[in-house]
Amino acid sequence: MNQAKSIDEIAASLQGYDPQALSAQDVLKFLSELVAGVSETEEVDIFQALGRIVAKDVISPIDVPPHDNSAMDGFAFNGQQLSSHAALTLKLVGTALAGKAWQGKIGPGECVKIMTGAIMPNGLDTVIPQELCQSISTESIQLDGALLKTGDNRRHRGEDIAKGKPALLQGACITPAAAGLLASLGLPTVTVYRRLRVAYFSTGDEILSLGEAPREGAVYDSNRYTVHGLLTDLGCQMIDMGVVKDNPELLEQAFIQASAQADAIITSGGVSVGEADFTKAMMKKLGDVAFWKIAMRPGRPMAVGRINHGKQSAILFGLPGNPVAVMVTFLAFVKPALLQMMGCTALPQPLARARTREVLRKKPGRTEYQRGIVTRNKEGELEVITTGNQGSGVLSSMVQANALIVLQHTQSTAQIGDWVDVLML
Ligand code: AMP
Ligand code: MG
Repeated sequence: MNQAKSIDEIAASLQGYDPQALSAQDVLKFLSELVAGVSETEEVDIFQALGRIVAKDVISPIDVPPHDNSAMDGFAFNGQQLSSHAALTLKLVGTALAGKAWQGKIGPGECVKIMTGAIMPNGLDTVIPQELCQSISTESIQLDGALLKTGDNRRHRGEDIAKGKPALLQGACITPAAAGLLASLGLPTVTVYRRLRVAYFSTGDEILSLGEAPREGAVYDSNRYTVHGLLTDLGCQMIDMGVVKDNPELLEQAFIQASAQADAIITSGGVSVGEADFTKAMMKKLGDVAFWKIAMRPGRPMAVGRINHGKQSAILFGLPGNPVAVMVTFLAFVKPALLQMMGCTALPQPLARARTREVLRKKPGRTEYQRGIVTRNKEGELEVITTGNQGSGVLSSMVQANALIVLQHTQSTAQIGDWVDVLML
């Protein structure tokens, strides 16, 4: 990790920073200043590279494809003979198969039967697909010259990627397509950033671990499971630290253990205003932490900063306790910050727009993330309805939703038929 700015330094650099009423946009700005990308890299097998982030531009060692070749099963010939108003008869003088070049000599009025991917024989530049021929016999073919142009159905050497050109840039995520592209270059491995290590735990005396008997006033821990899923999607290495009770010794131990091992720590619960617990006090004691009230719904309270451990430190994301708030703050803020730490430079997923089919009540001055179900109407437009009860504890709303409706900071109530931003999940 790079030597980074303190919370106060970042706060001072942000115009109009108000920890008691931070806009979602300012949260993102703050976090992008707070976190830094990992620098350690490793070389991994392509099959192991899915979801990893490229650490060094990949320069193609070869031309892909390595030869001019045919894009179709058909007949290769010299396109100079084409004329738009004359039929052309070509004598068949050989066959070019994929993986085996045809070495013969060819003259005017001749053609070679060619398979998809076969190297274009010397001097030939055009392929007529089999199905476009007027007639085909064992000796010759006939074609209508108006049906194609010189150069048709020929793939050029290096047209996908030329030798010496970058195939993947540093910061790119290895998608299935990128994995295939690397393989097409003949590269068995790729240099990627090491995985991000993220420790997470839930806090609260009322939180039950699975397997514990229910008791009055207690709820089962769901946040660790949603956080685990969200981190899995990002390809992070996870350190699950369970449920930590509101007890100073246990919390201190948990934070010390987490910061010793992890690049980032995600906690849930214990950061609300007037919270009668030790979580916030421990964050303050062990680190450099800001406690925010974010102008958003759900998910107003959040703690952010660093937990120090000797010379090392881990980035802290202290999320609210409510299960929907955890998911929303993760998607809105933690995910982009973790991607930055992972070294990923991909642009964030763009918001789409959908017409709301119900009135969405909203006051300007905060960002709201409602759970929505997006469908396509007969006109081909996206439409959205909410999942109903938008309480920040109603996790089933996140299960039903296929999108978050993002009602932006300055926006007021959206009427039926209005376009609203949606983040597809
Ligand atoms: P807090 O932010 O600690 O005040 O928690 C807000 C609400 O979220 C309370 O109703 C908690 O019981 C609930 N909550 C906190 N942590 C969890 C968790 N890990 N799983 C499910 N609910 C939680
Ligand atoms: Mg609590």
